[in-house]
Amino acid sequence: MQGMQQVACNFCGTGLTQDQVLYTADARIACAQCNAKVDLVVGDMRVGHNIRNTAYYAIISAAISFVFNPLFLVTVSSMISAIYALTSVNRRGDERFTQHIQGDKPAILICSILAIVINAIIILLIIVALSAVSETRTYRY
Ligand SMILES: [Zn+2]
Repeated sequence: MQGMQQVACNFCGTGLTQDQVLYTADARIACAQCNAKVDLVVGDMRVGHNIRNTAYYAIISAAISFVFNPLFLVTVSSMISAIYALTSVNRRGDERFTQHIQGDKPAILICSILAIVINAIIILLIIVALSAVSETRTYRY
C-alpha cells in the first residue's frame, strides 16, 4: 500500500505495517511471532537470574547470620537457598534457564558451596553450645 511506512522486524526481517509493530522490553521492533519468542526467552532468563541471585543471597545471608540470626532462621534460609542454587545450576533438562547464567556458574558454585560450609559450621557450633548447656544442667543436678 502506498503511503504506509514499512518497517522490518529486528529479528526475522519481515516487513511490518505500523499496526503490526510490537516493541520488546528493550525497545526493539518485533513482529507478533518474534515478540512471543522474545517473551519466552526473557522469562527463561529471569528464572536463570533467580538461580544466580539465590546463590548470592545464600552467601550474603550466611555472612549476616554471624551477627543477626533470630531463631537461626537466617541460617535455615541461607542453607535452603544455597542447596537450591547448587542443585539448580546443573540440573539436566533446565538448560533453557541455565544457558543464560553460564558465565555466572563459577560464582554460583563458589557462593553456594561457601554458604553451605559456613552454615554447617554455625549448625555445628549450635549443637556444641546446646550440648554444653545440657552438660551444665547434668552437673548441676
Ligand atoms: Zn519477526
